[in-house]
Amino acid sequence: MLLTFLSTVLITGASRGIGRATAKAFADSGWDLLLLARSEEALARLVEEIDNKKVKVFYKSIDLSNPKNISKGIVELMNNGLIPSVLINNAGVAWTGDLLSMPLEKWEWIMQMNLTSIFQVCSEVVPLMRNKGGLVINVSSHASRNIFPQWGAYCVSKAALASFTKSLAEEERKNLIRACTLTLGSVNSSLWDSDSVGMQFDRDSMLSVDQVACELLHLASQPTNQIIEDVTLMPSAGAF
Ligand code: NAP
Repeated sequence: MLLTFLSTVLITGASRGIGRATAKAFADSGWDLLLLARSEEALARLVEEIDNKKVKVFYKSIDLSNPKNISKGIVELMNNGLIPSVLINNAGVAWTGDLLSMPLEKWEWIMQMNLTSIFQVCSEVVPLMRNKGGLVINVSSHASRNIFPQWGAYCVSKAALASFTKSLAEEERKNLIRACTLTLGSVNSSLWDSDSVGMQFDRDSMLSVDQVACELLHLASQPTNQIIEDVTLMPSAGAF
């Protein structure tokens, strides 16, 4: 099978929120798409909605919270002749509550989703991107640099993700792989509707998912001899 490298993006967490808006923005710009999330139905709906019928789109339901699923799922997703030139590790979860009364399984879930699954996805995908100027964009949060009470595990997971990204960038530089973070303030997405985030916030003052998609497209479109190591994108209204 003929392998295509240029202008293919793999986006995790593409069924809703930032990932969904990003898939649409990349398709509008002519990128081929490899998409994953748990909800196959939502991914199928998204593919129907993509206006640019010239782009190739493949998707797969993969549960990133189960470490045993990931390697096989990613290999199957990429078994279509498309190799990503850009990998966007976007899928992530949040949980609010006191740090020390947090159930161990919730702690492990956050770490698996926001850190370990990204290590696992990179382990499968990055070796195929080597020596062609590939780019890994990890979607992080300003919680990686600031501490918010009730968000302890989330802060820890995103701080570790930022460190993971720098380690990846240094190790893979010799293989012409670039890695960066998009560090976000609050974004009006379905994350704020999840059962595990038990707080009220002013959704209207948050960034829109389309603004974030636009920034991801900008990062992905850099020439291969350049790397913006981090962009911090905040709503002008402030933290929340
Ligand atoms: P969202 O609206 O809740 O979307 C999360 C995405 O991740 C969905 O597509 C979801 O799809 C997928 N996902 C969740 N659990 C999954 C699992 N077990 N396996 C595979 N996919 C899973 O969240 P979002 O706001 O777009 O967040 C995207 C990223 O931005 C996250 O990394 C988040 O930490 C970061 N971020 C968000 C904000 C914000 O204010 N929203 C701020 C800073 C950073 P399925 O349910 O179909 O699996």
